[in-house]
Amino acid sequence: MLVIDREAVRQRLTYEVCIPLVRKAMIALSRGETRQLLRTIIPLGGGHAFGIMPGALGEHAAFGAKLISVFPDNFDKGIQSHQGVVVLFDGESGAVACVVHAGEVTAIRTAAASAVATDALARQDASRLAILGYGEQATTHARAIARVRRIASIEVWGRSLDRADAFAGRMRDELGLPVRAHAAAEAAVAEADIICTVTNAREPILLGRWVKSGAHVNLVGSSAPGPVEVDDDLVVRSRFIADHRDGVLAQGAEFLKAKEKGLIGDDHVVGEIGQVLDGAIPGRQSDEQITVYKSLGHVVQDLAAAQALYEALQPRGV
Ligand code: NDP
Repeated sequence: MLVIDREAVRQRLTYEVCIPLVRKAMIALSRGETRQLLRTIIPLGGGHAFGIMPGALGEHAAFGAKLISVFPDNFDKGIQSHQGVVVLFDGESGAVACVVHAGEVTAIRTAAASAVATDALARQDASRLAILGYGEQATTHARAIARVRRIASIEVWGRSLDRADAFAGRMRDELGLPVRAHAAAEAAVAEADIICTVTNAREPILLGRWVKSGAHVNLVGSSAPGPVEVDDDLVVRSRFIADHRDGVLAQGAEFLKAKEKGLIGDDHVVGEIGQVLDGAIPGRQSDEQITVYKSLGHVVQDLAAAQALYEALQPRGV
């Protein structure tokens, strides 16, 4: 059994590798070629949770699960807030093929999925990126989104201006782009063509009235019913695309909140990103439309990443 550690994931799971494999996995998910159960979340108290995500890449294909802890307070300690393992089984023999560092896979594959969605839904001329949050997903989203559009500038907001400034400095050095920190989220998103929300916020940090027409928004931070990052207005006004329809109908907090108030019905989820990529439903319908991609994250993304890592590293007997 191969053990693929954090450093190996970081080196091998580049965005050039991960973006196309996530794209393929999302198409397969929407076609019903892959299998997965709804993610199970066990609350552990103190805001901590344990997530169990089982699935299969198809019949006679690799299968497995991600076991992941979510400890949001780790951010203040400089430790990853998502930790765990992806266990990949061989589809022919049923044997465990490898165990992979899930924190690093999650950081990269989530941003890769947002990049896939952005590529499909954002305007072709989108160049101004705003990121709300400055944690691990903020970093990986800056890297990934810059690979699907010609990003000219990045605006960042978070609860601490000092932390936003520090993030801006790091990303400026790394990406060679102007990256500016803002004390107000409204100012950060005012001119944005692409907005990523990647926080642990429980109440809206982004309001629909701040979002300019034609923008694309990736809603990433909330992964369970309850905490919402954006208000009902944005949900209602947008063309709302799910990563996985059943997941969003059950666990997409922003969608569920607007639905509970009677503002929208299930049909507001117009479809899945895999259907857009497959040409089964239209993505953006006009240059003025606001598009939203609701990301919950799915095990097929983790398994596809684990399989690619296994295929790259297994012959080397790591
Ligand atoms: P980190 O712990 O690295 O960063 C968390 C960020 O949220 C920090 O910027 C933190 O800054 C900010 N934050 C915390 N509380 C609040 C609040 N109440 N209001 C505004 N900002 C807040 O986490 P990650 O970057 O790894 O993950 C970010 C979010 O994305 C999490 O909620 C996570 O569960 C989710 N996620 C979603 C995935 C998906 O597939 N959709 C996959 C992985 C993660 P500060 O505390 O200084 O304000």
